Amino acid sequence: MASTNLSRFSEWGRKIICVGRNYADHARELQNPVPVAEPLLFLKPPSAYLRQGSPIRLPYYCRSLHHEVELGVVMGRGGSAIPQAGAMGYVGGYALCLDMTARDVQQRCKEKGHPWTLAKAFDCSCPVSEFIPKDRIPDPHRLTIWLKVNDQMKQEGHTSQMIFPIPYLINYISEIIRLEAGDLILTGTPAGVSAVQEHDELQAGIDDLVTMEFKVERH
Ligand code: MG
Repeated sequence: MASTNLSRFSEWGRKIICVGRNYADHARELQNPVPVAEPLLFLKPPSAYLRQGSPIRLPYYCRSLHHEVELGVVMGRGGSAIPQAGAMGYVGGYALCLDMTARDVQQRCKEKGHPWTLAKAFDCSCPVSEFIPKDRIPDPHRLTIWLKVNDQMKQEGHTSQMIFPIPYLINYISEIIRLEAGDLILTGTPAGVSAVQEHDELQAGIDDLVTMEFKVERH
């Protein structure tokens, strides 16, 4: 089997599987039902990745671009129908991620029953931190993830509040979509999402383990 060097972005910037409404307080703030039976999934393409140093660009068709800070799980090994019991053995590491969302577009998609592609999958819709090796995070369900806009705290949530924990997500997703080494799973956002404007500065972190910064610019 070919070895994978996940410290190189090219080795982990692959498909992105996102989980919606995985924190009850965030589902409620948008007046969405809290999922109880199964996770809500959607995809972002590899062109959605954005590294630090590049700005977040407002899509030209969007009037309300929201930040959603999320813990990202980077797969170290691939598999289909990965059992929950051994699922953490497939994890290679983590990244802090933003699920940038064209909220006004998403609302129209929901009303029309359309897919969320225009709201969630546009270029640069997934700003990411550096890769965080697995051994730096012994328990990914005991982390505080936070996000500030212009130095003002907007989101501060604890990963213990996930409705569906990581082993459940890996099992559920890999029953439907084969997970490959380098794939990224976005595990959902806590409450506090809000709209960003041109010139805003976003700073986000996982406890004091990692921080990242992105500016917002016009398209
Ligand atoms: Mg999200």
